[in-house]
Amino acid sequence: MTNDSTIHCDVAVAGGALAGLSAALFAAGQGRSVVVLEAGQRTGGTALFSGGAIHIEGRQGWDEYQGLVPLADPVLGKMLAERYEEFIQWLASTGAPGRVGELVYRDRSFFGFQMGGTSMPVGKLKFFDYLHQRVEELGGKVLLGARGTRLIVENGQVKGIVAHQGAREITVRARSVVLATGGFQANPALLEKFVSRAPDHVAQRATSNARGDGLQMALDIGAKLSPRMETFYGHLLPAPPCKINWTHGYYLDPILLSSYYAKHAIVVNIHGERFADEGPGETNAVLANEASRQPTGGLWVIMDSTIRQNFARYEIPRDALKRPSSIRHIGFLKYLGLLRTDGRLVVALDSLRLARDRGAVVIEANSVTELAARLGPHGVNDDGLQKTLADFNAKVTHGAAMELPIPKTKLAHKIATPPFFAIKVVAGVSLTHGGVAINAKAQVLDQNDAPIPGLFAAPGTAGGIHHLYYGGSHSTCGVFGMIAGESASAALG
Ligand SMILES: Cc1cc2nc3c(=O)[nH]c(=O)nc-3n(C[C@H](O)[C@H](O)[C@H](O)COP(=O)(O)OP(=O)(O)OC[C@H]3O[C@@H](n4cnc5c(N)ncnc54)[C@H](O)[C@@H]3O)c2cc1C
Repeated sequence: MTNDSTIHCDVAVAGGALAGLSAALFAAGQGRSVVVLEAGQRTGGTALFSGGAIHIEGRQGWDEYQGLVPLADPVLGKMLAERYEEFIQWLASTGAPGRVGELVYRDRSFFGFQMGGTSMPVGKLKFFDYLHQRVEELGGKVLLGARGTRLIVENGQVKGIVAHQGAREITVRARSVVLATGGFQANPALLEKFVSRAPDHVAQRATSNARGDGLQMALDIGAKLSPRMETFYGHLLPAPPCKINWTHGYYLDPILLSSYYAKHAIVVNIHGERFADEGPGETNAVLANEASRQPTGGLWVIMDSTIRQNFARYEIPRDALKRPSSIRHIGFLKYLGLLRTDGRLVVALDSLRLARDRGAVVIEANSVTELAARLGPHGVNDDGLQKTLADFNAKVTHGAAMELPIPKTKLAHKIATPPFFAIKVVAGVSLTHGGVAINAKAQVLDQNDAPIPGLFAAPGTAGGIHHLYYGGSHSTCGVFGMIAGESASAALG
């Protein structure tokens, strides 16, 4: 039985994660009536799986930012860099729980905001519960399990959005609509169309609701695509059949299983050849982007036991150890161990063992020859891999990793201590950089670069700001979410 209904409001927002709730909270704070449609059963989206740090590359504003982060669109990039600090201060002023100030994130320090004050899942849950509740305290409505499917357009002006909540159709008649449904990373057809012709090399590293709905709704009414549709922010993940749990309450799986260790190792394609500089790791997404475009058949991270012991680990943040409840999940305890790094004793989780137990394809061998032979049946060229390893080790031994045909600019470790390991990986897509074209006011543009009246969007639905380097994805979503809320509100006069 259906129970269709119509709701009237000033601003309708599709997507109840960081971008959408930033837009909604900003507009509600301006006294606008707001309705948020969230397809999932709770707010928060992809950020629930992340470390929860909102950060931006560089500390000196636009001048430094543009030097550090190659941009697809300098106008949008400038807006991001210039309004970032204001966004952090505004977020803090809403009462959102978190820590503002100096954050250390993967060995680099930033001015930013740690959601809920801790990188453990409890922090993000607290943060998003607060944003959700605050929108409602300001008179807004948040509808869970409500998927926006179609924009309402009258006389060239967007006038609302139609959503489905189970069998119920909801018509939200609004004076402005903000699309904040994330990117299209969980939509294999769109990934194949825009990002990679090798679908076995890419996988979502985000909420499964990031299906590109906002992009599709905007395209349906004539919106323009942004540049750099083919690029994304992401990391390597163990390939299927490894089971990464995106649905249970741990919210830790995607981080603990991400192949962050790949930067210390080498990554090869089915020819047994390296295809990208692994060294920069998470400071850019070149490795994951190049991985997505390799010939179909499989990608492998290759390491020896020294690399495995020292780096195929996830260091549990100190703040988590102060609150045992945040790592209480019994399923992870058997993977924890003590590790000495930089003279410090830290608690670390064995990522490779966890991956293997979750079904990842991990090959172990006592020599390079044996490893190459065992990868043969998986389609990897045996001779190619042996040559790659021999050339790599020869250059590393002479401190000449920069002279390799594909230089390794950092973290070049010799791969020589048995046993040797190979783990099959895919490029995990956290946020697609391409999407709907917007201007610096987050207005969605038509084919003639004119704003579509009444329609706004934030990344990942909006695209074209970054390519490859992301410079902070929460900051991009949050800053443009705030701008979308501001512009949607201002457009009402
Ligand atoms: C393991 C991991 C680690 C990460 N680490 C970092 C990090 O350290 N720093 C960083 O900056 N970024 C990081 N990220 C990326 C970052 O979390 C995301 O890029 C960001 O949260 C995306 O926010 P968003 O609001 O655009 O989209 P999403 O979070 O994808 O949200 C979109 C929301 O819209 C909803 N939705 C989708 N379709 C519809 C529809 N049709 N109608 C209504 N609702 C809809 C979805 O359910 C979802 O709630 C990480 C991601 C992962 C997975």
